[in-house]
Amino acid sequence: KREGRNTYRLYQAAVDQQARDQLSMETALRNAVETGEGLYMAYQPLVQRNNRQLASAEALVRWRHPQRGLIPPGEFIPLAERSGLILPLGEKVIDLVLADMRAWKATGKKLISVAINLSTAQFWQSNFVNHISQKLRDSQLSPALITFELTESMLLNREAEGATLLKQLRALGCGIALDDFGTGYSSLSYLHNIPAHSLKIDRSFIEALHPQENSSRTIVAAIASLARELGLKVVAEGVETEQQWNLLGEYAIDFIQGFYIAKPQPASHFAELLEAN
Ligand code: C2E
Ligand code: CA
Ligand code: CA
Ligand code: CA
Repeated sequence: KREGRNTYRLYQAAVDQQARDQLSMETALRNAVETGEGLYMAYQPLVQRNNRQLASAEALVRWRHPQRGLIPPGEFIPLAERSGLILPLGEKVIDLVLADMRAWKATGKKLISVAINLSTAQFWQSNFVNHISQKLRDSQLSPALITFELTESMLLNREAEGATLLKQLRALGCGIALDDFGTGYSSLSYLHNIPAHSLKIDRSFIEALHPQENSSRTIVAAIASLARELGLKVVAEGVETEQQWNLLGEYAIDFIQGFYIAKPQPASHFAELLEAN
């Protein structure tokens, strides 16, 4: 019985510790979002499949915790979602991207289109489109230089409403990319109702690509040709090897993104890839 109680105490102590850790991470993240300290964007190139030319980039948020160093977004984005910080964080992301782009422009670089990931809450917040429109006007950057990435699950059960919002974003001149495609629920059935301009085939399908593996090759081929039929540009994400690059040459893929080409890099490094204007 005593042992049981000790076990319980140990368990309780671990739970308490976890709660304290979580709270201190949340406090640190709140501080980062408020002050901007430790938050910055990394940019990963997307290149054309046919000639490897730089075509556009995806902006990925980074957070350097004052003591713990870099925390992966897979950790702090869910934390932001749980703690009500996701809207101010998303706001910060947009501001950081627009500021980086303005800085590139100011140093005489030719800008390319940059994709910003949206969270569900951000996409559905009231007045989002007006808000974006205002920010773009203030930035004096062409809306055509901004693409928003969203996942199918963000539209789940609200497809018609979502499509209306997306049309408004398209009307501003922005691009829409369907992220992590193939991992959601509805996928192909309502693809033609979503005013996206591009589709990103999820990394899991690319990872499974192998010359002797037929099912993933069939899936990639099917998604790519369907998307092409619907007039969408096709991106393969998470391309890590030359073998994957070569296999992808067989399909209707327009753009490649992945460590095989380049890792996400800080704004100043990424700027070196941009041509002079
Ligand atoms: P995602 O939107 O699917 O972003 C692609 C992720 O794959 C990035 O991870 C990128 O670094 C990683 N990646 C790119 N190429 C390769 C590859 O060849 N191999 C492998 N193994 N990974 C590759 P990251 O930066 O850790 O971001 C993870 C997720 O966090 C993103 O997935 C996205 O869902 C979310 N996220 C990142 N930045 C933002 C942001 O600014 N706002 C929002 N709402 N979510 C973000
Ligand atoms: Ca993305
Ligand atoms: Ca993705
Ligand atoms: Ca993902």
